[in-house]
Amino acid sequence: MRIGTGYDTHPLVPGRKLVLGGVHIPFDEGLEGWSDGDALTHAIIDALLGAAALGDIGQHFPPGEPQYKDISSLVLLEEVKGKLAAKGWQVVNIDATIVVERPRLREYIDDMRATLGKTLSIKIEQVSVKASSNNGLGSIGRGEGIAVYAVALIEGGKDEGI
Ligand SMILES: [Zn+2]
Repeated sequence: MRIGTGYDTHPLVPGRKLVLGGVHIPFDEGLEGWSDGDALTHAIIDALLGAAALGDIGQHFPPGEPQYKDISSLVLLEEVKGKLAAKGWQVVNIDATIVVERPRLREYIDDMRATLGKTLSIKIEQVSVKASSNNGLGSIGRGEGIAVYAVALIEGGKDEGI
């Protein structure tokens, strides 16, 4: 088994759709980014790549490349699933914490878990998503952006010599 961590943060700006874990959340601002800005999916991608020691999201999907402009990050997550599977890795579980002041995410959490689980071909029970506020502290507390922490556990792997 291997464990990996991921972290991502994006600014909240007007005129963008807010997408987290592949789920559209009605709000007057969205996350800025080259792709759809889905910080939750990005942090999970980095946790998975980290667990498999396969680098990071920027290496695999460089921002600025036309084919990734406004792309759904679920497409990237699915690609990462393939990269891990090619090395014999399967996802055991994921746990993520979204740090956000507004909007309230509680009613969308299960949708995010189901969407991420479906994309990774794992059960909803293997995907945990939590939301926490920053209690008004700092840039996140002022609502200028969203941060996400994620960990992933994977098992299997081949020719690893461990
Ligand atoms: Zn990101």
